[in-house]
Amino acid sequence: MLETIDFYREVLDNLYDGIFFVDTEGLITYWNKGAESLTGYKAADVHGRNYCDIFKPLDKHGKQLCEIDTCPIRKVFHSATLTEIDAYVCHKEGHLLPISIRIAPVREVDQHFVIAVEIHSNNSPRYAMRQRLEELQEMAMHDPLTGIANRRFVEINLAARLEELKRYGFSFTVVFADIDHFKSVNDTHGHMVGDRLLKMVSATLAHSLRSFDIIGRWGGEEFIILLVNVKQEDLFALSDRLRRLVEKSALTLEGGEPLSVTISVGATIAQVVDSTDSLVERADRLMYESKRRGRNIVSIG
Ligand code: GH3
Ligand code: MG
Ligand code: MG
Repeated sequence: MLETIDFYREVLDNLYDGIFFVDTEGLITYWNKGAESLTGYKAADVHGRNYCDIFKPLDKHGKQLCEIDTCPIRKVFHSATLTEIDAYVCHKEGHLLPISIRIAPVREVDQHFVIAVEIHSNNSPRYAMRQRLEELQEMAMHDPLTGIANRRFVEINLAARLEELKRYGFSFTVVFADIDHFKSVNDTHGHMVGDRLLKMVSATLAHSLRSFDIIGRWGGEEFIILLVNVKQEDLFALSDRLRRLVEKSALTLEGGEPLSVTISVGATIAQVVDSTDSLVERADRLMYESKRRGRNIVSIG
């Protein structure tokens, strides 16, 4: 039993921002590492003390939260339902900390309730700014329709991989894929179906790659795939596998009938003398060779 408790304690210490437990009197019985770093109080400082006395929580208007009938933890004891609030609490150094609090009643082995409180510093301006930054980065690098990387991301990675090739000799391959007769799909089935097909082809290609390979949408119905460390003798088989997977995937139209598309592919291994432009141009030219040869074909060079 003790070992189990130690196990859960370790999980709580490592996984959560801040977690603490209070008993029916509002006295703190457990205080994890996250709560220590968030509030500045060590477990030894707070153990057995009333959380209201330590935290002195305020609502977002700055009003004291822990009056007798407004204390959120006391409310959870009575209602026995999960509660979430935004509040300010006192850091050990005196400043007020904007946090989100989740309060949950937890039934103990002997049928008594304890209250588990989870605290996150996620409404601090710094956290909001980080979130926003990540959103912006994602927006700048992702194609909103297909969810794969966009052209900018591919360009940045192409340049980085070329640099690695020149410095350390790490080899990589560029695969250029263009959907065949896509205009006629739009013309026959409408733009919405065209969009669904673009998503399907992106997903098929993306799911067939290894975690360190990269796929991005280069243009309308064109994709670039960067494959790490491919030998010349494997280049055709690897690229043809991508072509075949797309050929075998099908969208189900509203009437129930399947709709498939094919891709024409050009694939080439990067050379030390390449620039990003020369590399993409070569892959693009090989893709056009596949179009000329009848489409749904891979050309390597
Ligand atoms: P080819 O086999 O020679 O590649 O023929 P194609 O019809 O695929 O080539 P073309 O370049 O003439 O047409 C590409 C079409 O892709 C035209 C455009 O309407 C369509 N397209 C580009 N972006 C999107 C998109 O985001 N959604 C949809 N539905 N269609 C798109
Ligand atoms: Mg095209
Ligand atoms: Mg096309």
